[in-house]
Amino acid sequence: MENEAVSRNFIEQMIEKDLAEGHCKTVKTRFPPEPNGYLHIGHAKSILLNYGLAQKYGGQFNFRFDDTNPTKEDTEFVESIKADVQWLGADWEDRLFFASDYFEEMYEAAVGLIRKGKAYVSDLSAEEIRQYRGTLTEPGREDPYASRSVEENLALFEGMKNGEFADGSKVLRARIDMASSNINMRDPVLYRVARMTHHNTGDRWCIYPMYDFAHPLEDAIEGITHSICTLEFEDHRPLYDWVVIETGYKNTPEDAPRQIEFAKLYLTNVVTGKRYIKKLVEEGIVDGWDDPRLVSIAALKRRGFTPESIRNFVELCGVSKSNSSVDYAMLEYCIREDLKMKCPRMMAALDPVKVVIDNYPEGQVEYLEVPNNLENPELGSRQVPFSRELYIDREDFMEVPPRKYFRLFPGNEVRLMNAYFVTCVSFQKDEEGNITEIHCTYDPASKGGNSPDGRKVKGTIHWVSAAHALPVEVRLYENIVDEERGVYNEDGSLNLNPNSRTILKNCFVEPNLAGAKAYDSFQFVRQGFFCVDARDSAEDALVFNRIVSLKSSYKLPNQ
Ligand code: ATP
Ligand code: MG
Repeated sequence: MENEAVSRNFIEQMIEKDLAEGHCKTVKTRFPPEPNGYLHIGHAKSILLNYGLAQKYGGQFNFRFDDTNPTKEDTEFVESIKADVQWLGADWEDRLFFASDYFEEMYEAAVGLIRKGKAYVSDLSAEEIRQYRGTLTEPGREDPYASRSVEENLALFEGMKNGEFADGSKVLRARIDMASSNINMRDPVLYRVARMTHHNTGDRWCIYPMYDFAHPLEDAIEGITHSICTLEFEDHRPLYDWVVIETGYKNTPEDAPRQIEFAKLYLTNVVTGKRYIKKLVEEGIVDGWDDPRLVSIAALKRRGFTPESIRNFVELCGVSKSNSSVDYAMLEYCIREDLKMKCPRMMAALDPVKVVIDNYPEGQVEYLEVPNNLENPELGSRQVPFSRELYIDREDFMEVPPRKYFRLFPGNEVRLMNAYFVTCVSFQKDEEGNITEIHCTYDPASKGGNSPDGRKVKGTIHWVSAAHALPVEVRLYENIVDEERGVYNEDGSLNLNPNSRTILKNCFVEPNLAGAKAYDSFQFVRQGFFCVDARDSAEDALVFNRIVSLKSSYKLPNQ
C-alpha cells in the first residue's frame, strides 16, 4: 500500500516540520464531535487518526464535544458518542471536554474583539446578511451597522447576552473584509441570539457562538497543536487563523493551533451522512441508530464488527487530500481477517431439513470431539452430539443434482462433517414438492469422517442433531440501498433495497451455542460469521446477526 503510506505521511510531515521549526513543542490533537447524531465509520477514521497521531508523537489526545448548537437529543448523543470512542480504543484519559465549558472565555474573547474594533453588532436579518454577502463573482456590501462605535457595540453585545433582544434580531459580526475573495472572510457572524436550553448550561445563555468562532477558540484554550478536520473546512482556514490571532492566542498562521484538512472517508453505495441516517431512523425504515444495516459505529458493533477490524480498515484506507470512496468489501475483508482465527467454528442449519439415518440405532447418542478452530488449536475442542435424526441445510440436498454438485442426492455418499459417511437412500416430499425428509444409511466404520478402506467422498456437509438442536433466529443483511440504482434519487431521497434484511425464524444450531451472550461471535461453518444480537437476543431465544459471509472476491489493492 505504497501510495497510502506516502499520503498518510502528509499530516505527519507537517507535524514533524512544526516540531522541528519550533511552532509547537508537543503534539496535541482532539476529536470534536457535535452531539447531534451517532458516530459513523467516517468519524472512526477521524478518531483513530487523531488518537494515532497523538500516540505516535508521544502527545495527548483530547475528546471534546462541540456542543455550541443545542438540540433536544443532545444527552442521548453524548452518551452514545462516548461509548463509541471508548469502544474504538481511543483513550482520552481525563481529558473529556465540552465546548460549552468555555462559553465564558468565548464571550470574553468576543468582547476583546469589539474593544479592538474587530467586531460589531448588526441588526440585519439572516436573509439580509446573505444578500449583503455578495457572491463568488461579486464583492459583498458594507453592513449598514458596521459603523457603530466600540461603546455602542459593547453595550449591545452585553444586552444580547442579558436577553434584551429577540432571537435572531441581532448578531455579532467580525470586521474583516467584505470584498475578500473568500466569502468566509466577509464579516462572518460570530454570535447569534437564540433561546435554547442547553444540555450543559441550561438556560444560562441566550447567545451562542458560531462554529467558525467557537472551534478555533476551543482548540486554542485546550492547547491543541494540530486541529485536524475534513476538506470542506479548507476555505475556513483563514478565518480559523484570524480568530486565534486576533484574540491573541497565536501570532502567526504557522503557530499552534493549526488547522490541517484531509479527505472524508466515503464508502461506495453506503449511506454515511448523519442527515440521511437520521432520516432512516426517524421514518422507521431501520430500527434505530444501531440497526445492523447501518454503518454507525453502534450499528457496526451490534452487527459484530470489532474495534480491531475497524482500526485495520482505517489503516488500509490511509489519509489523503482528495476525496475518493472505498468499497464496503474492504470492511468485510477486515472483519473476516480479524475473526477467522478468533471465533469457534460451529454447525448451524439455517434452512433446516431433516435427515434420518435408517441404520443408526434409535435412542443412541454419541458425543464427537470436534476442534473449535482447525487453524487455531488454542481454541480447543468441544463435544458435539450425534444421533439418528439430524438437520442439514436444505441447499445441501438436491433431488436432481446439476453437474459438479457433490453434496447429498439420491445414491450419493457424503461426509457429515466430523462424523460419518452417509449415503442417501430415499426422500419424502409434500404436496407442493418440498423435500420434507431425507433418508440415509451410514457407515459405522467411517467415524470421525474417514473410511478405513480409503474410499473418498467429494462432499462434506454440516449438520445438527435434531433432538439436541437449539432453535434460533438468524438475520441476514444486505445493503440498505439498492446499489443497481445508486444511493440517491434525483430528489435527494434514498433508493432503498426492499431485501436489506431477511429474518430466518426456524434455524437450528448445535447445543454448544446455548448461553451465548450479546456480542459473542461465531463462525457457522460454510456460512459466515454471526454475532449474538445485543438488543433482541434472549437467553432462551437467541438471535444472531450475520456479520459477513465467508467468501469474497475482494482482493486487497496491490495483491
Ligand atoms: P456527518 O455530517 O458526516 O455525519 P459531521 O462532520 O457533521 O458528520 P461532526 O460531529 O461535526 O460530524 O464530526 C466530528 C469530526 O469527524 C469532524 O472533525 C469531522 O471532520 C470528522 N468527520 C466527519 N465525517 C467524516 C468522514 N466521513 N471521514 C472522516 N472524518 C469525518
Ligand atoms: Mg459537523
